[in-house]
Amino acid sequence: MNTDAVLDDLRSRIEAGYPLLFLQTWEEQRWERELAELSLEIERGLVTWTITTGLQPPPLGEEQAEPSAWKLLQQLGDYPPSHVFLVKDFHAWINDPVIVRRLRDLVNELITQRKTLIFLGPVAEIPFDLAKDSVRIELPLPDYEDLRVEFDAVLAERRESDEAELSLTSDEEDKLIKAVMGLSTQESRKAWRRALRGRAQLDDAVFTTLISEKRTLASGSDLLEFYDLEEGVGDIGGLDALKDWMGRRAEAYSPRAREQGIPLPKGMLLLGVQGCGKSLTARATARLLSFPLIRLDIANLLGSARGESEKNMRNALALVESIAPAVLWLDEIEKGFAGVETDGGGGSDATMTRLVGTFLTWMSEIQKPIFVIATANSVQNLPPEMLRRGRFDELFFVDLPNFDERKNILGIHLKKRGWKPEQFDIDDLATRSDGFSGAELEQIVVTAMIDAFGQGHILSQDDLERSWRSTVPLSVTMEDKIFALRNWAQDRCRRATSDSRVTSMLESEERHNAMQIPDDEGDADTPLPPWAQLAYSGQLKAALVEFVRADRDVLFPDLAEALGKYMEVTGDQGLATRSNPNTVLWAGMSQSLCELINELVSSKRLYIHPTDVERYKAIQKGLRLPILKEPTEDRLPRAAWLPSSLRCAPHPVHAAKLARIGRMKLSGG
Ligand code: ATP
Repeated sequence: MNTDAVLDDLRSRIEAGYPLLFLQTWEEQRWERELAELSLEIERGLVTWTITTGLQPPPLGEEQAEPSAWKLLQQLGDYPPSHVFLVKDFHAWINDPVIVRRLRDLVNELITQRKTLIFLGPVAEIPFDLAKDSVRIELPLPDYEDLRVEFDAVLAERRESDEAELSLTSDEEDKLIKAVMGLSTQESRKAWRRALRGRAQLDDAVFTTLISEKRTLASGSDLLEFYDLEEGVGDIGGLDALKDWMGRRAEAYSPRAREQGIPLPKGMLLLGVQGCGKSLTARATARLLSFPLIRLDIANLLGSARGESEKNMRNALALVESIAPAVLWLDEIEKGFAGVETDGGGGSDATMTRLVGTFLTWMSEIQKPIFVIATANSVQNLPPEMLRRGRFDELFFVDLPNFDERKNILGIHLKKRGWKPEQFDIDDLATRSDGFSGAELEQIVVTAMIDAFGQGHILSQDDLERSWRSTVPLSVTMEDKIFALRNWAQDRCRRATSDSRVTSMLESEERHNAMQIPDDEGDADTPLPPWAQLAYSGQLKAALVEFVRADRDVLFPDLAEALGKYMEVTGDQGLATRSNPNTVLWAGMSQSLCELINELVSSKRLYIHPTDVERYKAIQKGLRLPILKEPTEDRLPRAAWLPSSLRCAPHPVHAAKLARIGRMKLSGG
């Protein structure tokens, strides 16, 4: 039931003369507001009670002194008929036999005088003796419309403050509201304020921050696990058909799709070879939809008592519904549901069969935006009813990556770790690694990096090749199984890699095999210094530290000049100290260079040292600002320049003052 339906229900119960209502909620303020409006509507006086204030307003002519539960019940008769009494947190007294007796004595009087006692609080247990005269209602969390009102209030608050202007499309607003569904109004407001603070526009990070607020909702359950959304669709190499399909499904959650009555997607089943990106796809999908990703551990559902497993399943699913919108992930279902009678007619396990039945019924009836992703590595033990048409929107088969996909995956994993893929002969590596899974390709990169580091040199093609040589892909030992799986999936599943792409990739593979890979064009006579080799390979952070270490005391313009070949270094950004933001260190830098220096200084890998301004004289473009000799404790009224350099050791005197710096946009050079 949503808020309006509950209010309708409450209205009819109060008007019908229900004397005792127990309402369970954590959202006291919101429901107090709603109940105040309701009593106005139905022309009942509203009186509230807490143990600290007693009845408010107090009965005519009485002062409220030393409130108590007993006194509350004594004073109800002092009010004229047609009143609603909102009693907060009464659970501390409700089990007292004297109080229970008194309430039972009061029931008739309350009914004849059209008075209703509403007990409101996080605990709402009805004592057995009062069961016949009471009703317990769990008040729902705010629905979309309620949150819309709250969201508008947060935006209005923002406009009144001097925060940056934030212009949102209606689709963005819709996504921001949906991202907090399942939270209370107060929690939602806090979450929006935190996620939107200081932002002039939205990006992916806003949604991941909002979604992570929902972590607490699943924290009470040992059946559900909440995942952080670190990977996006861009982190998946290949699987283009699957990615295209997902992109289209995401559209079905938009308000436009809702207006046009497009049905909510149900989910997908990913069947395929181990380590080829099924779990990764589940994570990236949640991020694409901006939904939290919740994993249901099927093995943990099993209870020893009869019926316990289904009860656990129903409880877990109810919890997921309260978090919706969400992506619900069932990993390795062939193991989780092992024991269900399969096509082969093997041993059947009645509990498991019922469990699958419970799940599938829930899935077909669910009205909330919950996208189910089930993953499986084999078809043995896979419940056949799960594979029946109409259960999932699509069954995908995820195969070992082909040549182009391998290239793509190697590139993604090199880039993820700061290396420029174009500096390596990925074509060669992809050609050699036929039969490798995505996880194994990732492992080639990781192992090569560790080996190169251990041997004290920068990652090279040789390291990658050695790493490739030492990896035996699972497909060698599991060839028969993979072959059988592929055959099984042929007519039953859609391929995660689109067929036309497969053909074109096969062609390109052929072309590639016929092609001669050109020799390395690097200039072997003058090897680059280590910092430049690092920068050349895309390892800019390491290059910067190496550059400073080699030179020991580096001025900002020298650093910018050196790195200029490898990244954008000039721009309208500057660095200043955090303790005194008018102390400018240098300006005219690009945002990325500023961020890089800032990060290295914050993580104490580089340090700022005040230096002699004379050293800057040789560089024509000094800052046109008053010059400081050393950092000052005094708050500077205007910006001033502290000539400084970067080193690998902290300054003996001013280390603390210069340990925290910040990036800022500067004008005027
Ligand atoms: P399993 O059934 O063993 O869980 P899986 O198919 O779910 O396997 P993942 O867990 O998604 O495979 O893959 C493991 C890791 O390998 C991923 O986290 C990712 O880093 C890498 N990987 C696998 N496939 C891909 C891919 N297509 N693109 C990029 N990385 C991949």
